[in-house]
Amino acid sequence: MTDCLFCKIIKKEIPSEIVFESENAVAFMDINPQAPVHFLVIPKIHLSSITKVEKEHGSIMAEMARIINEVAKQKNIEKSGFRVVVNHGKDSGQAVPHLHFHVLGGRKLKWPPG
Ligand code: 5GP
Ligand code: ZN
Repeated sequence: MTDCLFCKIIKKEIPSEIVFESENAVAFMDINPQAPVHFLVIPKIHLSSITKVEKEHGSIMAEMARIINEVAKQKNIEKSGFRVVVNHGKDSGQAVPHLHFHVLGGRKLKWPPG
């Protein structure tokens, strides 16, 4: 989508610290990290939120799960642990309407989240 921030990051029209890129997905560091390690994994196709995921997106979803694990290893948080968060809609505070997995680690995370 032309005016979507994350679509612009995918097209490299907006600079970001990309840490992994595959055919269908990209991982990049969050600009406002909430933990020592905070990266986002997004599909290259524009899906406005997790609620738009259909059966046909199964292989992209699996690819993103593999990327989460790959970058978690790269960032040395696989052994210590990490959290994967997806926000949807107003109550979650979702700010960017392009599906993204937050991956947070590098410190002890509180539960339940705020
Ligand atoms: P949401 O609240 O939609 O779940 O999360 C959006 C995330 O995108 C936030 O953690 C925010 O810091 C991050 N973000 C917003 N704009 C940019 C940007 O231009 N570059 C990067 N790397 N991250 C961004
Ligand atoms: Zn988009």
